[in-house]
Amino acid sequence: MIASACLRDACTRTVCIVRLACACLLVGGGLAVLSGCASEVPTSYGTGVSIELAQARADAIANVHYELTFSIPSDRLELVRGSAVVTFILTRAGSVVFDFAQGPDHVLSVRSNGGDVEYVVEDEHITVADVPAGQASVEIEFFSGDQSLNRQADFMYTLFVPDRARFAFPVFDQPNIKARYALELEIPSDWRAVANGPRLSREMEGERATVLFGETAPISSYLFSFAVGRFEVVEQERDGRTFAMYHRETDQESVQRNAQDILALHHDAVAWMEDYTGIPYPFKKFEFVAMPSFQYGGMEHPGAILYRSEALFLDPTATQNMELGRASLIAHETAHQWFGDLVTMEWFTDVWMKETFANFFAAKIVNPAFPDIDHDLRFLLAHYPAAYGVDRTAGSNPIRQPLLNLNEAGTLYGAIIYEKAPIVVRQLERLIGEEALRDGLREYLSTYAYANADWADLVTILNGQSDDDLVAWSRVWVEESGRPRIRSTLSTEEGLVTQLVLEQEDPAGNGRLWNQRFDVYLGYQASSPYTTSAHLRGPRVEVPAARGRAVPDYVLVNGAGVAYGSMRLDERSKTFLLESLEDIEEPLLRAVSWLSLWDAVLEGELQATRFLQLVERVLPIESVEQNVALVLGYLETTYWKYLSVLDRAQLAADLEEMLWQGVVASESVSERAAYFRAYRGIASTEAAVERLYAVWQGDDVVPGLTLTERDLTTLALELAVRSVDGAADIVRTQLDRIENVDRRAEFEFIMNAVSEVPSDRDEFFARLADESNRERETWVLRGLQYLHHPIRAQQAERYLPESLELLEEIQRTGDIFFPERWLGTTLSGHQTESAATIVQDYMAAHPELPGRLRLKVLQAADSLFRAQRVVN
Ligand SMILES: [Zn+2]
Repeated sequence: MIASACLRDACTRTVCIVRLACACLLVGGGLAVLSGCASEVPTSYGTGVSIELAQARADAIANVHYELTFSIPSDRLELVRGSAVVTFILTRAGSVVFDFAQGPDHVLSVRSNGGDVEYVVEDEHITVADVPAGQASVEIEFFSGDQSLNRQADFMYTLFVPDRARFAFPVFDQPNIKARYALELEIPSDWRAVANGPRLSREMEGERATVLFGETAPISSYLFSFAVGRFEVVEQERDGRTFAMYHRETDQESVQRNAQDILALHHDAVAWMEDYTGIPYPFKKFEFVAMPSFQYGGMEHPGAILYRSEALFLDPTATQNMELGRASLIAHETAHQWFGDLVTMEWFTDVWMKETFANFFAAKIVNPAFPDIDHDLRFLLAHYPAAYGVDRTAGSNPIRQPLLNLNEAGTLYGAIIYEKAPIVVRQLERLIGEEALRDGLREYLSTYAYANADWADLVTILNGQSDDDLVAWSRVWVEESGRPRIRSTLSTEEGLVTQLVLEQEDPAGNGRLWNQRFDVYLGYQASSPYTTSAHLRGPRVEVPAARGRAVPDYVLVNGAGVAYGSMRLDERSKTFLLESLEDIEEPLLRAVSWLSLWDAVLEGELQATRFLQLVERVLPIESVEQNVALVLGYLETTYWKYLSVLDRAQLAADLEEMLWQGVVASESVSERAAYFRAYRGIASTEAAVERLYAVWQGDDVVPGLTLTERDLTTLALELAVRSVDGAADIVRTQLDRIENVDRRAEFEFIMNAVSEVPSDRDEFFARLADESNRERETWVLRGLQYLHHPIRAQQAERYLPESLELLEEIQRTGDIFFPERWLGTTLSGHQTESAATIVQDYMAAHPELPGRLRLKVLQAADSLFRAQRVVN
């Protein structure tokens, strides 16, 4: 909302007042004034939901109620028609800006306080002029756009996160204008309806039904949702609360097998959250919908959670990990009812908070029920490698990032939010203690119930619970990027430790200090490790408990998998791990050792060839599948990115043999498949390539693995990129083998990227300049992966300059993850100095590149730049 004056400092940007002479001058120029001549009507805040608009509205608008009506035709090609009566208190007279990302043809009428009113439909907004201060009411009739309605033949559902409610109806589409929503849905009479509020009535009239939902508690616009269609429902009362599951599963056996578990998991998660937070379930009812092919695992709409059906209904053959995944998903969405729904971030800059805490609670709720799974190892491998993968680069970003417009909220997502933030919250719990964190969270949730709060609000509360300066702690962990370099130094005398010192250093040279508590392990070949806790808050700390202990064979600062940083191994520890890593009994300690050794490779402190010798010796006796997967990943990356061509040729045969033995000896199908993928990935010798060809031909088999059509397709592409004899025939034959039309179209799209003929590859690349040829992003990426395969890297260098030049256009036209993936895949196969120079030249020639995009380039180019130092 804006009144008739400049807002804060915003007037220099996009907000100013113009006097419109007459509406008719402007109609047709993209701006339509639909009600006579306007007097003082603001020009636009621009498209999307800018922070200026959001702040101005949050200051001037309160106590919002929506009465929404949607009429949903059974024919999904017919428009959805709706009306909104929005009542609110306006603290200053003036214009009121609604978000509605449709053109004037979708706005049927606008009235204010029961009478005609001047309004403008422009730049994804409806601006209503001259609304008096006080209690206000605006009524708008409209056609919804379909962009966020997910309409299918006999069902549909809304998915409005982060700013997509505005595609469907006029709304103040920002998280910190919470509102109560009453809803009326007119639907085909054989459909059911689910929404946030309680169901009040259902009336039938011929082939149509009208369902009324009572007002919700105050919720943010991205959490408002409804789903309608042909659904079955399973209801059950537990502890006085009714849980209802809507679904479209036709396999009755599957419903019978799963329904009880699904309902019980929800009940248990609610009970746990009530107990932990001390706050009863905050919404009026608990319903959820299992939606086929839903975009995410789940979305936490209060009272109407949506799930991907496939994640809830498990097959009888589901592994324990899949059961754990389902339980975690249910606990995550249930935890959001308190963290995210009851208390919501002020602005999407803090979206990481709700995701991280939902995961944090989910782990506490679920893990005890799965005692056979090594949860610490799972946490380590799920979070650390990915977080380090970004945080060690010059392009790293902080957990909490500024956001100027909600239409850019997509660029916030990435490994730092998903992988580093959970590590940091676990650090926080260790720093202040479990009880203090729980008490702080209770206070936070009750203080800001049905309202909004940001990270600073939580830190202020927690600061009262802790001796540490959490504001300083937060500044470095949450508001800044990067990680400390941590080193241990051992002094010894006559076989005993006289001093163990830990030091941290800011790799950026800015003197930052990362305050953290963790466990240090002193490891011994002949006996169990000795563990002691350390609190590293300054640049240096001594670990007194180590004094007088027998000199260890190795020291692991991150022994418990809790500390975060680049852990520099001292020479003694490094030597021990290289010689005897396999003697370490605890799987978590082995994983931590691998992480540290990998850092040593990337820092140029351990030769890649030496690292691979260790892999070759230790991998065959690694018994834990999670660790096998980690090391196989390191192996492939090292092989292609950090070995010279000469070293690769020397090591290939032995590594291939080791991997094939892994295929043969693996006890589980998933581990066998992982070994085979790695074998296929690095296959370089004539013998290995011939074996792959024989497998593809059907003349040979992979022991214990049944290859699918997809596997054979990949094999054909891998053979082609290796320019085997008859490569073109292999590709053509494979094309004929593919019966599924979608997969055939994908293969045809990719074929040229693996061709031996350079002009075919040029043609593949040239087509990508046209936006319409980039619509199927996964196809593009798969083709690029082969175009820039390390084997072809030299010839592919000529595509690099134009690929980089396309980047900004790709950000404008592609989905949110595409720019990052475009860059990553393009650079993935390159390791030469000339390729690195192309990237540096591009950066130098484009000083105007937007900040977050520049960081993405630096992230993607990290391994290319690093290869210049590591490969020798
Ligand atoms: Zn979530």
